[in-house]
Amino acid sequence: MAINPYSTQCIDTDDLKAVQQALQGAHLAQGPLVEKFERALADYLGVKHVVVCTNATSALFMLYQALDLAHSKAITTPLSFVATTNMLLATKATPIFCDIGQDGNIDPALLENCLQEGVKAVVSVDYGGASVDIPAIKAFCARHGLLFISDSSHAFGGAYAGVKIGALADASVFSFHAIKSITTAEGGAVATNDHALYQRLKLLISHGVEKDGWDTQVQTLGFNFRMNELQAALGLSQLKKVDTFIAKREEIACLYDNLFKDNPYFTCLHAKLSPKVKSANHLYPILLKPFLWGRKTQILDALLQAQMGVQVHYKPIHTFKLYENLLGKQSLPKAESFYKAEISLPCHQKMSLALAKHTAQTLLEILGGF
Ligand SMILES: *Cc1c(COP(=O)(O)O)cnc(C)c1O
Repeated sequence: MAINPYSTQCIDTDDLKAVQQALQGAHLAQGPLVEKFERALADYLGVKHVVVCTNATSALFMLYQALDLAHSKAITTPLSFVATTNMLLATKATPIFCDIGQDGNIDPALLENCLQEGVKAVVSVDYGGASVDIPAIKAFCARHGLLFISDSSHAFGGAYAGVKIGALADASVFSFHAIKSITTAEGGAVATNDHALYQRLKLLISHGVEKDGWDTQVQTLGFNFRMNELQAALGLSQLKKVDTFIAKREEIACLYDNLFKDNPYFTCLHAKLSPKVKSANHLYPILLKPFLWGRKTQILDALLQAQMGVQVHYKPIHTFKLYENLLGKQSLPKAESFYKAEISLPCHQKMSLALAKHTAQTLLEILGGF
């Protein structure tokens, strides 16, 4: 048996056909499929505008630039993939780390403590695919005149109180990396209802070039972070299946919740979600109880040996050398404990319920030996 990864793509014959057709089309780049994909994404999310690009990292970079975050500060979470804040640094903006709550998301109760001169935005992350506390963050941003930016790279297809993630913040970023909800191999997007922001993003991802008939003009320094037609074709085909993918992940997550109920070793984030949150279940995180933290490396090794492709999400960003050197050593005790406790179990649309059951049993057996 091969290692069962914590997340993986699901490609079927429809996807192959779509990419092959695009490959045989008149345009491989800057053709009609990219705009068609953007329209389809906007309709699915219930937002006015979507800009797609090469990946979520470039989407974040362009968004921070389009919102003029240079030389400002953004309150953000230490529990994310490092791209969320690396792109703040690339924009010459300073991340202010706010500690997390028990769900792994930025804790709204701690936001006020992070306020300081120069803060212009909150950049939150929907950890594991589960939305942040939307009303609390919105109220905080409204109170202080801040932008609400959501790195929703884990959460495409998720919802909060019946509204799709992507339609809740001032701007939301998604990733279509291979292992995210749907994939374009590599790919990213920004969703927003702000028309001016949309136009600025369109310019930034394509050299800053404006066309007026035969004439062109460049007023803004732009890049080339455009998605290509093959990726858009794959994205259009994948988008048709997103709700089935998410339903499958939810089925596995619920099975796990049940099989792990009252176990003595760990708690499950999914089992404790607010009824308002419909997670995209990019991750199925468990939190080991403190008596096991000291043996986590051995536990991870044993799980890998048993063909479980477990991972740890995430080493808190403020503890990385780059960030310590730039911002000084900081203490964010909840994020640091979370890191000691967390393991992401395999949970994806290609997994059978039988394999999920086997995975759960194996995990419990292995932990019984520690
Ligand atoms: C995956 C991910 C990214 C980066 O996405 P890419 O498309 O690989 O650039 C950024 N932020 C978060 C939270 C992610 O999980």
